[in-house]
Amino acid sequence: MRVAVVGAGLGGLALAQGLRGTGIEAAVFERDPGIVARFQGYRLVLNPNGFAALRACLPTRWHPLLNEIVMDASAEQLILDPQLNEIGRLGASRTGIVVDRQVLRHLLLTGLTVHTDAALTGYDVLADGEVRARFARRDPATADLLVGADGVNSAVRGVLSPQTTPTDTGVRFVIGRTPLTDEFAVLSKAYGSKIAGDDVSLLLGAMRFRTPPKQAAEELAPEVTLPDIGDYVRWAMILPPDGATADLTAQESVLSTMRGWHPQLRALIEQADPDNSTLLSIRVVQPGPRWAPGPVTLLGDAIHATSPTGGNGANTALRDADLLRRCLIEVDEGRRNLLGAVDDYERQMLDYGAEAVRSSLEKLPVFAPEAKLS
Ligand SMILES: Cc1cc2nc3c(=O)[nH]c(=O)nc-3n(C[C@H](O)[C@H](O)[C@H](O)COP(=O)(O)OP(=O)(O)OC[C@H]3O[C@@H](n4cnc5c(N)ncnc54)[C@H](O)[C@@H]3O)c2cc1C
Repeated sequence: MRVAVVGAGLGGLALAQGLRGTGIEAAVFERDPGIVARFQGYRLVLNPNGFAALRACLPTRWHPLLNEIVMDASAEQLILDPQLNEIGRLGASRTGIVVDRQVLRHLLLTGLTVHTDAALTGYDVLADGEVRARFARRDPATADLLVGADGVNSAVRGVLSPQTTPTDTGVRFVIGRTPLTDEFAVLSKAYGSKIAGDDVSLLLGAMRFRTPPKQAAEELAPEVTLPDIGDYVRWAMILPPDGATADLTAQESVLSTMRGWHPQLRALIEQADPDNSTLLSIRVVQPGPRWAPGPVTLLGDAIHATSPTGGNGANTALRDADLLRRCLIEVDEGRRNLLGAVDDYERQMLDYGAEAVRSSLEKLPVFAPEAKLS
């Protein structure tokens, strides 16, 4: 069986990685010209189920490496004022495992066939039941199953389920990262906390690798090459509706809202890595009605994009990857047919995917009271 996966994000790569070593041939097609072509490096908190799904998609010999390049999520989840005084609590702290998205993508890429500069433009279902994917700058590819793991603007979804479109919540935020030096270790109370200013909130989270990723790979799995990055602080600011100014950089936009804030908080933003600081919009995709069964399906943000404040988008994409992987292996082993397996995957995925979007939207107003939810 041949599977064409469109999109080399966490979900698509986890699926392809999970099919490696089975009788199923998986090729990944990615729009970006290179795998680190744009900002990709932020930390993610995986819940126990998401982390288990990720492990299930990886060869067991990499599990010790995976364990070294993560950290436990332990944060007090306080609400602090801009002088770092506690003024409230955000609720129960999340348990889970913190991973760096860029490091994880490098691990997931290892050993895969990934075609970059391959933007899908459409596909055709052929008379024999196969599907032919069309790309902007490369020859078409034919497969038994096409998986759209191409994120919130999914081109695959545009053909398969055109009535399902992203909703802009109106919330803009700036995200960046700053090396975690001794100077910023004293901010530890603020990691996992919300700093509540008059009109804005700053969210801080530390990424402390158990072992630096490059070193961990060299020691535990030499066939894997991981980026040479050290510990950092991830900061994110939800901006007021008119907060993003075109002529300011991401850092300048944040600093302009932090006049009079604790000097260490300002220094944290001033010393950020400009290449890893950017402005993002919060858009969600709520799964619409079911499409006709066939050799094309969707996975991850392409069909259920959540608000990042829900902390469940990657968890759900990894769950999809593991579930679809297991369904396809049953097909390969002759225990069921392809369309039945895809149908089973979609029924489960659409159900928990819709719930993931709903619960992420419920949490959004805590961080962005002005969000327009529909
Ligand atoms: C700041 C931030 C923090 C987050 N924190 C968390 C967290 O703590 N926990 C959590 O669970 N989730 C979190 N999320 C959500 C999580 O990152 C996403 O849900 C997850 O990465 C989705 O993975 P994906 O593979 O479905 O899509 P993506 O990672 O978006 O990957 C899609 C890929 O498809 C490619 N592509 C797009 N169009 C095409 C095309 N036409 N042809 C070919 N390729 C294409 C894109 O270039 C991209 O590489 C966070 C998100 C953000 C932005």
